Amino acid sequence: MDSHQLNLRTNVRRDVPGDSAPGIVCDDPDREKLTARVLAWYDVHARRLPWRRMAGARPNPYSIWLSEIMLQQTTVATVGPYYAAFLDRWPTVTALAEASLNDVLGAWAGLGYYSRARNLHKCAGVVVAEHGGRFPETEEVLIKLPGIGPYTAAAIAAIAFDRRTLPVDGNIERVVARLFSIETPLPQAKKEIAVRARPLAPKARAGDFAQALMDLGASVCVPRTPKCSHCPVTDDCMARAKGNAASLPIRAPKTAIPTRRGIAYWTLDSATHSLCLVRRPPKGLLGGMLALPVSDWDARPEDEIFTDSYARSQAPCRARWRRIPGLVQHTFTHFHLELVVYRAEASPTAIRKLAGEGNWTALDELPVGALPTLMRKVVAHMAPDGVR
Ligand code: SF4
Repeated sequence: MDSHQLNLRTNVRRDVPGDSAPGIVCDDPDREKLTARVLAWYDVHARRLPWRRMAGARPNPYSIWLSEIMLQQTTVATVGPYYAAFLDRWPTVTALAEASLNDVLGAWAGLGYYSRARNLHKCAGVVVAEHGGRFPETEEVLIKLPGIGPYTAAAIAAIAFDRRTLPVDGNIERVVARLFSIETPLPQAKKEIAVRARPLAPKARAGDFAQALMDLGASVCVPRTPKCSHCPVTDDCMARAKGNAASLPIRAPKTAIPTRRGIAYWTLDSATHSLCLVRRPPKGLLGGMLALPVSDWDARPEDEIFTDSYARSQAPCRARWRRIPGLVQHTFTHFHLELVVYRAEASPTAIRKLAGEGNWTALDELPVGALPTLMRKVVAHMAPDGVR
């Protein structure tokens, strides 16, 4: 080895104060050694997660798939109880395929991004009908299933079947951006990060390696203050050596999201003390979920939307609509929503009309747990005065 090679491969542990203090900039790390260090760290520090099988136990592909779908855009802490409830109610992919879509949507309520639940149910049906109830093992076939994109296909292939691939989630993205000191801002840097990340996947224990990098990002290589002195790859890390770890990955400034406004209708049958709920159309936001009737969600200013005339023009039936003070606010991925609630007692004619499209539900038996978060907020908004 000549002196140039020696310099590139010399991994000098910087004996300096501070967790991301600068030192010598290294070239590409020795992948085998890096893999070995990461796996050795994982064997000691792996997070205990409900869907994870430790110490050589074979993972259950159904559990891995279920957890990966639930974890899309959702934190581990939020997913935990939903994952347990789903497995308890539908312990196999066959059981899930045989469930009704409405039951699955009801069990998913509160987790958000409801197209995931519809695709989950659809995917279970396809796995049973076309794959004999067994999940395919390769990314190429997995990606053809409903609701499974490139990331989820790689995650299932690696974690459930130990295929040599590396799913790049937000945690791995951060670790790799720092390991190679990638200074291109996200999201443009995604491709470069993926190109750097994929070859890191080892031939053996690819699933463990993927989960190890995820855990490293979640517990050591954390966003603002990476704990480099506790990191198994600190000697390989270019950002650590350059002293710019805490600032990576760079993110392009977020653009402000717009606000939309609308009306929610609290429609009562006072004779039976019941409330009108409707099932939303299968496609689109809150698709297929139980909800109160609502107006269009409009970007116009509040003095045009929060008016009695607008509320009447969009109402599900003719009635004496009364505005309830206050505002219900909710943020979706691409916009904020502000809802004003109007309340009315429907006439017998309106009740008959709405019976065709709605469910009249006794107020003291409202299925709050089966409502999406936005609708739970509306129910909570109405709660101080009971049925009002
Ligand atoms: Fe620090 Fe993250 Fe680099 Fe590890 S990978 S040395 S935690 S910046």
